[in-house]
Amino acid sequence: MITGKNYLGHQLSAKGSKTYQTFNPQLNIENDSTFTEATSEEIDEAVALASEAFKPFRTTSGKQKAKFLNTIADEILALDDELIQTYCSETGLPEGRAKGERGRTVGQLRSFAELITEGSWVEATIDTAQPDRQPISKSDIRKLLIPLGPVVVFGASNFPLAYSTAGGDTAAALAAGCPVIVKSHPMHAGTGELVASAIIKAAKKTNMPNGVFSNINSSGIHVGGELVKHSGVKAVGFTGSIKGGRALYDLAAQREEPIPVFAEMGSINPVVILPEALKNRNESLAKTYAGSITLGTGQFCTNPGLLLGVKSEGLSNFVQNLSNEIIKIEPSCMLHPNIIGAYEHNKQKAISQPRLTVTADYESDVQTNYARQAITTVEGKTFIENPTLHQEVFGPYSIVVQCENKTQLKTIISNLEGQLTGTLIADNDEASNHPEIVSALQNRVGRIIYNGVPTGVEVCPSMVHGGPYPSSTDSRFTAVGIHSIKRWVRPFSYQDWPNELLPNELKNENPLGISRLVNNKQTSDNI
Ligand code: NAP
Repeated sequence: MITGKNYLGHQLSAKGSKTYQTFNPQLNIENDSTFTEATSEEIDEAVALASEAFKPFRTTSGKQKAKFLNTIADEILALDDELIQTYCSETGLPEGRAKGERGRTVGQLRSFAELITEGSWVEATIDTAQPDRQPISKSDIRKLLIPLGPVVVFGASNFPLAYSTAGGDTAAALAAGCPVIVKSHPMHAGTGELVASAIIKAAKKTNMPNGVFSNINSSGIHVGGELVKHSGVKAVGFTGSIKGGRALYDLAAQREEPIPVFAEMGSINPVVILPEALKNRNESLAKTYAGSITLGTGQFCTNPGLLLGVKSEGLSNFVQNLSNEIIKIEPSCMLHPNIIGAYEHNKQKAISQPRLTVTADYESDVQTNYARQAITTVEGKTFIENPTLHQEVFGPYSIVVQCENKTQLKTIISNLEGQLTGTLIADNDEASNHPEIVSALQNRVGRIIYNGVPTGVEVCPSMVHGGPYPSSTDSRFTAVGIHSIKRWVRPFSYQDWPNELLPNELKNENPLGISRLVNNKQTSDNI
């Protein structure tokens, strides 16, 4: 049942006077539940509980934490229809998407559970002592990764389950041994509270400390800012706009003790289409890209917002085919009136730029909160000269840039802001014949795709979801997959520490049987 209250550790609390409701964009009405924004006192309490919980949680075994994560997954599934219906009523997204995202969320929790049950992820590294080394003896030094402390997670508007309350950031932080305080996203506060209730139930069932998880309501930037500035908070995870991510990053950097902010922000995901591919597969490429641009009403951080090619008859035909195909697609609902408002505003801003041609803009009537998809095209020179055209238009919109030649194409790619993905569409030996294009693209992105679409982020260990700024604030880390756990830990060394006082991961007898780097050899043997 949705109460509209905050979870401060295991307790529900609603001391504030500011309230708000979520919105059903399909029905264009407010949903029934009323949520109470957390007060400063409640924020303090959540952080104090998280700091206390960190003491036992930081050394809780991988197996116990895995039980917690698996129980969260079970409890999320047990929410069943109530969760799915709430998700749909707060997003306008269809039931199939809700179920798919729930599956992804549960899968992420279970994959972190598997990782920490096995245990080798702590990168245990041991260099045994050399008392006889000349000219001076060498100490016994042992290193592993340890958790940072309480983490604040800002949920994403476009992924109410997989990148929100119990999403990737939370699962990774809990797996690492960090208590989590979620700043619930106001657009899906009910979905967030239901998932929070599943986490609290799981925490109680598996005897996790009170404060290992809190869920804080707010609609407005004040509460999030207070959380990031709180001295008890040691790291931040964020998914959303560049403006929001950058503001929080700056706040964290200005603290007396600066803390890391891992923000996954905007991206226009350039797609480079080479001439042979255009010649051989023009129509099928147009169809595929019309689908990718409109998938989820374009509300994906990997949406292909920029298509690049060299001026030719093939590229002109592609623009025409893409425009014809995209207009055939039925418009769909966006997440919230604010999101559609931002889409319409940003689309109009892009469309009104000089020397830009609109080749498709869905004209028939659409329901309230449904987005009209659009395609525009410009010459390479115009694109280079106008930074407004480089900005993300979050929604079903894409611009095709017709470059003068390959040199201009390379110049445009090289000067793009950092991106989550880059895609190369090529036939036969085109990719190997264009090393300079591939190299320029690789330099600007976190993931490069060959003959595919950027939408659809597989959750697996080899996935990189992150990239040079501003697609993320730290391109050394991924926000998706088990390696995202590394955002919430720091390396720590023991020098000449007694074997019996070392954590199990570093003991001579290797009681966990994990893989370790011992004197430069990877092994699971005892010492
Ligand atoms: P957002 O505006 O960046 O907000 C995300 C979260 O951060 C919200 O909980 C918000 O709190 C909080 N926040 C934002 N700015 C803050 C600040 N200065 N101080 C403290 N907290 C702050 O993103 P959104 O709500 O998900 O969507 C809005 C727009 O972001 C979209 O229209 C789209 O342009 C973009 N977006 C991009 C991606 C992407 O992956 N590229 C994904 C999602 C959204 P409040 O809501 O309570 O203010």
